[in-house]
Amino acid sequence: MIAPFSWIRPEPWGIHVVPADAWVDPSRPVPRALVTHGHADHARGGHGTTIATPATLAIMELRYQTREGASPAGYGETVAIGGGVTACFLPAGHVLGSAQILLEHAGERVIITGDYKRAPDPTCDPFVVTPCDIFITEATFGLPVFTHPPIAEEIGKLLEVREENPDACILVGAYALGKAQRVIAELRAAGHSDTIWLHGAMEAMCRLYEEHGVMLGDLRLVSDAAKDQMRGQIVMAPPSALNDSWSRRLPEPITAMASGWMRVRGRARQRGVELPLVISDHADWNELTCTIRQVNPQETWITHGREEALLRWCELNQRRARALALVGYEDEDD
Ligand SMILES: [Zn+2]
Ligand SMILES: [Zn+2]
Repeated sequence: MIAPFSWIRPEPWGIHVVPADAWVDPSRPVPRALVTHGHADHARGGHGTTIATPATLAIMELRYQTREGASPAGYGETVAIGGGVTACFLPAGHVLGSAQILLEHAGERVIITGDYKRAPDPTCDPFVVTPCDIFITEATFGLPVFTHPPIAEEIGKLLEVREENPDACILVGAYALGKAQRVIAELRAAGHSDTIWLHGAMEAMCRLYEEHGVMLGDLRLVSDAAKDQMRGQIVMAPPSALNDSWSRRLPEPITAMASGWMRVRGRARQRGVELPLVISDHADWNELTCTIRQVNPQETWITHGREEALLRWCELNQRRARALALVGYEDEDD
């Protein structure tokens, strides 16, 4: 008999599913990868076979211009991946197509969350709580200081500033995959039906979301309009475009940014952000601890961020836990 859980092995460049010789979110090319979601730190190109949800595969195709080796697995579908291991992709509530991966072998169940959140998001399926023995959780915002306010409050602030500044334009920095579409969908839910203007780098991903049934309303490119047309308008751009020459084409832009890191005032100041919007696609401290309680695993493995505080919380709550030293996972702007 093999030792319990020896079939699942965390290595610095990913989680190795030994009997299937498959890797979850590997940071280097491998013959067989299981990918939780389309963000670049999880979904790299160059694998032999990539097993992921259809939406994640579409995002990867858009990024890497190839569908080679794509092997789709829908939510809730159980697929045999070899060596007596099955994988089941379950919604993670992070971005379109994002999944937790439930792996089962010899009666043992391991869940790898990838990135996740519990707050509602009209652009993706909500996180599903599923029992397991080992729960491998991210901890990007794994400090008690990180609490994400309800998104409606932040969207309200954005619309208020727009109202008060009819001659200016509000430039919102947001991650091009997930955050941008969520902010747009929430603006629509708040009754903002005017055109929303896009930086060119956002267009293809917004179209992909629409093709997957996420309606975003009237979107147009900033490059198709005159400068004065942008007065009183909301413009979405990747964070990297906030302070570069691209923004000079906008009239008196007020710079906003939608990120969980906007909770840290210094970060907002550093980037010249006048209107910080605390909007994250990651679980905050309360969501992390509440999820661990609900899933109630025998053991929690923590990765991807500030592991120490969550590790300590597990100890204080008599929960077995360990921190994994995976490399290459960064969510600087999320
Ligand atoms: Zn992510
Ligand atoms: Zn990530």
